Amino acid sequence: MTKTIALVAHDNCKPDLLEWAEFNFKALSHHCLVCTGTTGKLLEDVLTKKLRLEKRFRLTKLKSGPLGGDQQLGALVSEGKIDCLIFFWDPMQPQPHDVDVKALLRIAVAYNVPTACNRATADFVISSPLMMDGYEPTKPDFSKYLARNVGE
Ligand code: PGA
Repeated sequence: MTKTIALVAHDNCKPDLLEWAEFNFKALSHHCLVCTGTTGKLLEDVLTKKLRLEKRFRLTKLKSGPLGGDQQLGALVSEGKIDCLIFFWDPMQPQPHDVDVKALLRIAVAYNVPTACNRATADFVISSPLMMDGYEPTKPDFSKYLARNVGE
């Protein structure tokens, strides 16, 4: 079953993500990919070369992460349009858009989206049999939160 996988990597982690994607290109080719701008551009080059078939990959490039791409991804998560997030964020370097990074990770947790923040977890996620069946993660119930008393 086709899923929508979001892929993002901070600059120091991009080589790792590209290598991972090249290794897993067959598995990724079954899915739709949504990426922040620079990650998407690099991935497109790597995956197109690997497959030599430009049309096989469905890859959408959003804005670059620090220019709003992380926020665009967060919005897609909140709309239920992302099935899985692969986000290699850099634990060793401060990011100018740290608040956006936190916001994306927060919203992915809030909406129960499977999220891999390093290569080992990404390996577990991409090789899971659940990737190819109709598995639907439980949708969180925000009704109590929405019905709370405010302004009294
Ligand atoms: P980028 O953004 O792919 O445009 O470099 C990544 C990020 O969110 O920092």
